[in-house]
Amino acid sequence: MEQTLSIVKPDGVKKNIMGEVIARFERNGLRIAALKMLKLSKEDAKNFYIVHKDKPFYNSLTDFMSEGPIVVMAIEGENAISRVRDIMGATNPKNAAPGTIRADFASDIEHNIVHGSDSQASASYEIPFFFSSLEIL
Ligand code: UDP
Ligand code: MG
Repeated sequence: MEQTLSIVKPDGVKKNIMGEVIARFERNGLRIAALKMLKLSKEDAKNFYIVHKDKPFYNSLTDFMSEGPIVVMAIEGENAISRVRDIMGATNPKNAAPGTIRADFASDIEHNIVHGSDSQASASYEIPFFFSSLEIL
């Protein structure tokens, strides 16, 4: 069993598809182990995406991620990290496989609806960023 962190980003919440994103994970046999809606400050977003601090898109990305409510969830299942990434699709929706969340809903490479941890190391940083052990069921 593996755990990963996923986020319905502000564009996904605004488009009223948080339920659709969650349903796609559930339909794939993944289990939601923790879930909440919240709004990041700019500072929170910078800390969450600290791994990208030297990238040209860091400032714009962290503005976007702090512009409105998000839904964060810890997801559990066998190979949950790669399964969630497969359901999400490629970062750039232009390259995302048909039927993935990003192919179906993302408007551009930044506003791409959903986040998923890319490794066990990032999941280990990202899950406790949002959830205490009491909140992961
Ligand atoms: N992003 C962007 N421009 C880029 C690459 C990424 O705005 O050229 C944004 C996009 O929202 C992406 C996030 O930064 O989801 C994190 O980038 P990463 O490369 O980790 O992509 P992901 O793991 O989300 O597919
Ligand atoms: Mg990433």
